Amino acid sequence: MRILFVTSEAFPLIKTGGLADVSGSFPAALRKLNNDIRILIPGYPAVLDKILNSSHLCTLSNLPKVGDVQIILGEMPDSGVPVMAIKSAVLYERDGGPYADVNGNDWEDNPIRFGILSLVAARLSAEDSPLNDWIPHIVHCNDWQTGLTPAYMHFMHDTRKKIDQPKSLLTIHNMAFQGCYPAKWLAALDLPSESFQLDGLEYYGQLSFLKAGIFYANGISTASPTYAKEIQTDEYGFGLQGLIAKRSHEIRGILNGVDTREWNPSTDQYLHAPYDFKKMRGKAKNKKLLQARLGLAVDTKTVLLGVVSRLTHQKGLDLLLECADKLFLDNDCQLVVLGSGEENLQRGFEELAKKYPQRVSVNIGYNEELSHQIMAGSDIFIMPSRFEPCGLNQMYGLLYGTPPVVSNTGGLADSVIDTNQETIHNKTATGFVMKSIDTCQLLATISRAIESFNDPKIWKIIKKNGMQQNLDWSESALGYQEMYCALIQSKEIK
Ligand code: ADP
Repeated sequence: MRILFVTSEAFPLIKTGGLADVSGSFPAALRKLNNDIRILIPGYPAVLDKILNSSHLCTLSNLPKVGDVQIILGEMPDSGVPVMAIKSAVLYERDGGPYADVNGNDWEDNPIRFGILSLVAARLSAEDSPLNDWIPHIVHCNDWQTGLTPAYMHFMHDTRKKIDQPKSLLTIHNMAFQGCYPAKWLAALDLPSESFQLDGLEYYGQLSFLKAGIFYANGISTASPTYAKEIQTDEYGFGLQGLIAKRSHEIRGILNGVDTREWNPSTDQYLHAPYDFKKMRGKAKNKKLLQARLGLAVDTKTVLLGVVSRLTHQKGLDLLLECADKLFLDNDCQLVVLGSGEENLQRGFEELAKKYPQRVSVNIGYNEELSHQIMAGSDIFIMPSRFEPCGLNQMYGLLYGTPPVVSNTGGLADSVIDTNQETIHNKTATGFVMKSIDTCQLLATISRAIESFNDPKIWKIIKKNGMQQNLDWSESALGYQEMYCALIQSKEIK
């Protein structure tokens, strides 16, 4: 199958979160299954710098606002998966991140930046694509940034021939981000005005990229089976639950896999002491080195709690701030936090570090190396998300022998098995699942985890169970491949 995988970030080219991890590793897994896959991504400076063997492939002309863009063909540095980067100095070549400037303010022209990403994907899959020897069977879109692709494909394709034309699949990695913009962008993006309606692109008077994708895509998936159900409810649907529920029989939840080339404690390039479940000594060494690096008291008996996260309301870390005093009063424990995001959360954690200088280390910012070292050096990973489409960090925690404390939602519910008498007995326990998402439950669940940590026999079982999980992409890639085949064979016209 020829698959065009459209994404706004991909590790190791550019990363702000889990979508980059997925876009870096999932296409490689699909290629292993003999699919002919290419990634399409905006040509941010880091992308143009890092792709290997790059050359000019073609030019697309007459694009709204920007005129021409160049398509550069190269390869992913680690996996060799072909990458097509959209080169447009005016859209993508600037300092700052993929979505926001250096001060964290969203780029004002994001609708055009990601509208063009979406349109280029549709143009490259159309009959008159300049790549007429490489028309994809499937255009796999990811999140709101690519949500207009299925809409453009719908408007562009000749209705009479639709059955044979490429099929679009939208994966929703997070319903909370929808890409909603004033209606004036419709004309700027060459979208037909009649599509601006309830059965189309309109969402409460605005143009919604995500809604466009959900409405026009031939297939829809989300990043975990539980999240696929949750987004059909008022609580998790962020206003789009009705539309999702209408297509409920078509939506599949497929749990993301882990890039085990990057996230494997026995080969991790950032660790001073590699380890695996048979030889765990390295883990203690990593803990001591981490404590020393962060200026915490070096002591392997003290339980070290780890957090690596965007600091946003979604991640529920305000609950950790609320129970921190009680946690430190009742337990001999330390906490390391790495993350950045909302001002109040950053400040809250910085104040906590000032209050407990020997016990709390807070690192505001983005740091790939430290994130691996925290995963390896901590004893327990904390992730009390209010919602979590899939979540990767809890899976990294499992593989690194750092059992996670998680809330019972989305991919967290699908990937962590709570510790209790039964799951210890049948050797399935891998972590600690909160019964509800509140401060008391978080405190109680961390306390439960610390109790287990203090029982070496039980702790060994839990760690080993997690480390032996098969969390790579092999199974999930087969699930997606099945979905692609069904879409290609489907006679349904969108
Ligand atoms: P989300 O995509 O919602 O942020 P995930 O758990 O799916 O959450 O993925 C987050 C990814 O981003 C992980 O690879 C995690 O290690 C990484 N990450 C998040 N914050 C930081 C940070 N401050 N420094 C380094 N890596 C981070």
